[in-house]
Amino acid sequence: MNCFICGKEKLDFEVWSNKLIICMTYDSDFQNNDIISSMSNESIICHQCIIVIQNKVKDNLDSKK
Ligand SMILES: [Zn+2]
Repeated sequence: MNCFICGKEKLDFEVWSNKLIICMTYDSDFQNNDIISSMSNESIICHQCIIVIQNKVKDNLDSKK
């Protein structure tokens, strides 16, 4: 299985499943992100892509202030 976003093959990098994301992040802005909310239950995301999305969500929030 590959990363849902960048397509990097799952080898030894840290992966996040959809369920894990919902459990680990209590951030509704993050969970409502287009990419995150379009994940299927089987999708996985590498940690690098998680950080990219977190930064995008943060930037969006900052620009709304
Ligand atoms: Zn990735």
